[in-house]
Amino acid sequence: MATISLLAFLLTLFNPNGVDRLRGGKAKARKKRDIDSSVSSGETGMYKRDYKNRVSPKLKVGTTLKYLGSTTDPQDFLPQRSKLAEVAIFGRSNVGKSTLLNVLTGRKKMCTVSKRPGCTKAVHFYRVKKSVVLVDTPGYGYAKLPRVQIQSLSELIWKYVQTRQMLSGGLLLVDVRRNPGDTEKRLLSAFKERGLPITILATKADKLNSFDLETKLTNLRRVLGLEKSEVVPISSRRQWGIRETWKLIFGMSARSTATVDKTSDLIPS
Ligand code: GDP
Repeated sequence: MATISLLAFLLTLFNPNGVDRLRGGKAKARKKRDIDSSVSSGETGMYKRDYKNRVSPKLKVGTTLKYLGSTTDPQDFLPQRSKLAEVAIFGRSNVGKSTLLNVLTGRKKMCTVSKRPGCTKAVHFYRVKKSVVLVDTPGYGYAKLPRVQIQSLSELIWKYVQTRQMLSGGLLLVDVRRNPGDTEKRLLSAFKERGLPITILATKADKLNSFDLETKLTNLRRVLGLEKSEVVPISSRRQWGIRETWKLIFGMSARSTATVDKTSDLIPS
């Protein structure tokens, strides 16, 4: 048996195509090793892996998304008949929330990407594959809105965060290039007070080179007192971090409901 294997090996060496194949095999192994090591080396690795595994989320989630309703009145949130866990998305206006929701769901017009910031003035509820309700909250911090309107938006958001029973987690969008403000800090502590998980999604990561991105992420974590895993860089434009975002959403919903069905087929793989 050993003699046969040795003969086959020698034949491969003397056959020019065989040598090529041998070299090709080694080159492939080297390439795989390089990718694997970059994957385990932090954020840059994450992008590569995410980019490599990119598929259109539309195929898996878009068809299973159901709009449930919207409200502008804090006294009138959607009744919770289904008892599904809710994961809410927050962010300053113009942070890239609508773009992210469109990319996540694979729908071009789930949310209108605005040239005029401050357009989303309601809380919107969307059910994803009968497993979790995604809640789109109004973008805050748009200074050009009338004061009364700013106040009522703020009331709507806080009422939701402080009283909503089925709220099971939050994603707080922060433009990776900007320093987080008081609202971000207050939102983080409101979630912590309720014992609910919240993760920062650092948006528009494609606008920075790797060095600046790493510096900004470190700064974000320091200012907000968060762990590395609590700040996730994303780019809707390049589709970086989309899979991670779905994982977070389903992870948060699974924590609060034992009834969540198999989620792996929802997450773009
Ligand atoms: P919203 O007000 O938070 O809903 O923000 P939008 O989704 O309307 O986005 C505001 C602006 O940021 C738009 O011009 C988008 O094209 C842009 N934008 C959103 N996401 C990204 C991103 O990942 N990368 C870059 N470079 N621009 C983005």
